[in-house]
Amino acid sequence: MNYTTSEQLYKEAQEVILGGVNSPSRAFKGVGGGTPVFMEKAKGAKFWDVDGNEYIDYLAAYGPIVTGHAHPHITKAIQTAAEDGVLFGTPTRYESQFAEMLRDAIPSLERVRFVNSGTEAVMTTIRVARAYTGRDKIIKFAGCYHGHSDLVLVAAGSGPATTGNPDSAGVTKSIASEVITVPFNDVGSFKEALDHFGDEIAAVLVEPIVGNFGIVEPEPGFLEAVNELAHESGALVIYDEVITAFRFMYGGAQNFVGVEPDLTAMGKVIGGGLPIGAYGGKRAIMEQVSPLGPAYQAGTMAGNPASIRAGIACLEVLKEEGIYDELDRLGAKLEDGIHAAARKHNVPICINRLKGALTVFFDVKEVKNYADAEASNTEMFGSFFKKLLKRGVNLAPSKYEAWFLTTAHTEEDIEQTIKLVEEVFEEGL
Ligand code: PMP
Repeated sequence: MNYTTSEQLYKEAQEVILGGVNSPSRAFKGVGGGTPVFMEKAKGAKFWDVDGNEYIDYLAAYGPIVTGHAHPHITKAIQTAAEDGVLFGTPTRYESQFAEMLRDAIPSLERVRFVNSGTEAVMTTIRVARAYTGRDKIIKFAGCYHGHSDLVLVAAGSGPATTGNPDSAGVTKSIASEVITVPFNDVGSFKEALDHFGDEIAAVLVEPIVGNFGIVEPEPGFLEAVNELAHESGALVIYDEVITAFRFMYGGAQNFVGVEPDLTAMGKVIGGGLPIGAYGGKRAIMEQVSPLGPAYQAGTMAGNPASIRAGIACLEVLKEEGIYDELDRLGAKLEDGIHAAARKHNVPICINRLKGALTVFFDVKEVKNYADAEASNTEMFGSFFKKLLKRGVNLAPSKYEAWFLTTAHTEEDIEQTIKLVEEVFEEGL
């Protein structure tokens, strides 16, 4: 493939946009560097770059796209919203309509607020939990990404109950000291942290199904234990469903796992591809938020009609019968095909998959927490990524990210992908 135009555009971009990208993972840092491909156009499961190369897309914009790119129903909703005016700074009927759709799907959302990103949604749930409990500290799980607000940029912490160090310059030690990090799927460490810091903990922040060090499901009983122990110590439970909401079923991962949090943060899928975030939860807790309560949260763009109407349209599509079963069926086919190709060419992989989302890890037996994912082979993934890209398959450029199928992927897309994966394995990583 020829990438001349991408190379030129990347050079120019670096002269004006810091690092040439507006989100760091787009710079191919996770795959040993190189020129990121500049995409021009996307439709369904396909991408075309500025040099005219075609790709089957599994990045899905890091998760928001479930119905395929430029889905006609969502496109129409965005067009109509544009014609009617995209921003009013007043309430609109669409916000309540959409909030009701979300609550119908996820009953723990007794009251909802819309914001503009997953980062904002998570950040605000933490503020609300602190306001409600009158406590300062939070517990999070190692390796889980919850956006780029100060508190959650603390992922470090080897071993249980260590008070974190910031992962980013500019995050103060005092902020980091308010975050306790424990390994995912480890009830013992979680309990130890609560025993030590229990009456200081405002909330436990958890992705009910992890999406940020690959797809990692909770072990049986883990989320139940988190809820029970957190509540015993007077802490709230916040689910970060920015990736998971409407990705695995019509509703949240909380419906799927059968455990209800006190607060939920969402984003990605619920905007139908436009910028959005939302948070919500038990009414008594949400009543902490301004204008009813003392915890402040606001937004000029919050609840803007374009994002809301795109979100409504997206959920209307996802509500159709059989969508998630089909994603599961195609996901299983892809998983089986990759496994078979790996066996044939002796490539050591393990795959974590839930429905239409999966992660291929190299050179590890299983991945149940961040340390397992970290131990997987970065160079092999980098090579796999680049060789597939060259053949027309677009993955997220990091061994920690998931492949996301969409309703637009076809049987042929999956077969073609498996064929190309086999070609790559045959060539060697
Ligand atoms: N939480 C999770 C679980 C996420 O995956 C992300 C984004 N990858 C965020 C929060 C932050 O969302 P945003 O990028 O919309 O700010």
